Order: sequence, then structure tokens, then C-alpha cells
Amino acid sequence: MRVLNFGSLNIDYVYRMAHLIQPGETAACRSLTVGCGGKGLNQSIALARAGLETYHAGLIGAEGGFLTEKLREKGVNTRWVRQVQGSSGHAIIQVDDAGQNCIILSPGANVQLTRDYIDQVLEQFSPGDILLLQNETNEIPYLIEQGAAHGLQVALNAAPMTAAVAAYPLEKLRWLLVNEVEGGALAETEDPEQIARRLAERFPHTAIVLTLGAAGCLYRRGDERCFVPARRVQAVDTTAAGDTFTGFFLRGAAQGLSPQASLELATAASALAVMRPGAADSVPDYEEVCKTVK
Ligand code: ADP
Repeated sequence: MRVLNFGSLNIDYVYRMAHLIQPGETAACRSLTVGCGGKGLNQSIALARAGLETYHAGLIGAEGGFLTEKLREKGVNTRWVRQVQGSSGHAIIQVDDAGQNCIILSPGANVQLTRDYIDQVLEQFSPGDILLLQNETNEIPYLIEQGAAHGLQVALNAAPMTAAVAAYPLEKLRWLLVNEVEGGALAETEDPEQIARRLAERFPHTAIVLTLGAAGCLYRRGDERCFVPARRVQAVDTTAAGDTFTGFFLRGAAQGLSPQASLELATAASALAVMRPGAADSVPDYEEVCKTVK
């Protein structure tokens, strides 16, 4: 079984500032670091590190070549990544001395997906393969419809949440993965059990995977339900916790593990990720994770 992740690729420009810039102000930064980001890129890396045969599809601008390099270095097949006119998706991130941040996101090439390109890539995959999506590219409803029509098992991590998500054909998903905020917005309630129950009622064939940060995670499909608490660890940086979770949960599911065992695998992997700084580079590999699972 192969996994196709149709997702975003971002360049993260992180500017360290004494304080966040004010209206009308010009100030030099203390330092600039340029890194790889985007939920699509992070999740492809997590899938590959989890040991799945992973293909990334998505678009970059001329300056985004190092994003493709990064994916390759982490074991992701990038034959379907294409370069287009215009700039790569990127984020301009200010971080002040107190650790507060503000972020300008420029979707760039990530939202230039065309139906022709989508059709060409989907044709290369077979019924039973997994198609993973996030909400950082355009044409998500088309990707869900066409993926399902090809017999692919479609997973959507509905992040970042937007008002448009409620109108997506979510009933065609095999898995819907959301955190508490995203799930709460979709289900219009705050209680985690209620979120999972309402979404499972609305989409009876879809497995709902709800992550709750340090409180753990919940699974619900129809009347089937399970919960796994998070590991008690010293969290250093929770960036990419959810992305790591998604990659390892799908590894469990692809391997035929029970929902409970898949949640346990994903929980163990994301606990390791939060103990390390960074995003893509904090994702552990499958062997490492297995050593921490009973
Ligand atoms: P997202 O990053 O998408 O908001 P969450 O914050 O819900 O996702 O985290 C996903 C998973 O990562 C959780 O279900 C949990 O297993 C793990 N995790 C997140 N924060 C912590 C933490 N502070 N300690 C241990 N595990 C954590």
C-alpha cells in the first residue's frame, strides 16, 4: 500500500526580535533562520519516518527547491512535486524575547493546484492506497471527491480550520483528524466526548480522530470508541506534534492495527516529537517509537 500526501510546502522565515514590530516601526532583527515548513511537508516526513511508502504531491516556486530536497532526504518520493511561476508558500514569523510570535502566511504556490494536475497524479494510485490532505491547499473538495472515486482511502487533517471545511464532502472520508479547536468549530460544542459523538453521528462511515494535546486523544467511528492518554513528558516544543501523530496513526491503520493500537503508536511518536525542538526535524522514526511502546 502506498500513501499519497497532496499538501503544502512552505519556507519558514523566522526573525528573532527584541519585541514584535509596531505600526510604523522599522527595526533590525537579532537573527534570521530559514527552514522548511507547511503541514503538508511535515506530515509527509512523518509518514515516511513511520515507515510508509510515501509520495508527496504539491507545488513550489523557483526558490523552493530545498523543500523538495528536504523531503527526499527524509525518504519521501517527490516525483510528483512541481515547480510553478510565482513564489513558494512561505511564512514570515517574528518571535520576541518572551517567545511570543506573530505570523504572516503567504499561501503562494500551495493554492495554485489545478484539476488537470490533480487528475494526473491520482491516476498513478490504486484502490486501497491512502490519500492524505490538510487544509493548506486549494481544491480540497475536488481532491476528496476524486480520491474517493478512485477507491483511495482518504484522510483529512482539517487544519488550519476555516469556515469552508463544514461544506467539504466529509462523509466520503475514511479518517477525519482534528484537534480540540478544529473539532469544536466543526461540531459546535467544546466537550471532547460530545465533539467525537456529534461528528461520528454526522459522518457514520468516517473514523473521527480527535487529539487533545497533553490530555491525549479520542477515536470514534459509529459506536466504536477508544481513548488514549498522552504520555507524561517534559514538553520542549509542541510544533509538529499533530503532524507526527497523523503520520504514525496512519502507519498503524495501514498495517491493520486496531484503532486503540494505532492511537498508542501515534501517542508514543508525538511524545518523542514534543521532547525535541523544531518541526520536521523533531519527528522520530518507527524503530525509535517501537522501543517506547509495550
Ligand atoms: P496539534 O498540534 O495538531 O494541535 P495536539 O496538540 O492535540 O495537536 O497534539 C497531538 C498529540 O500530541 C496529542 O494527542 C498527544 O498525544 C501529543 N502531545 C501534544 N502535546 C503534548 C504534551 N505536552 N505532552 C505529551 N504529549 C503531547
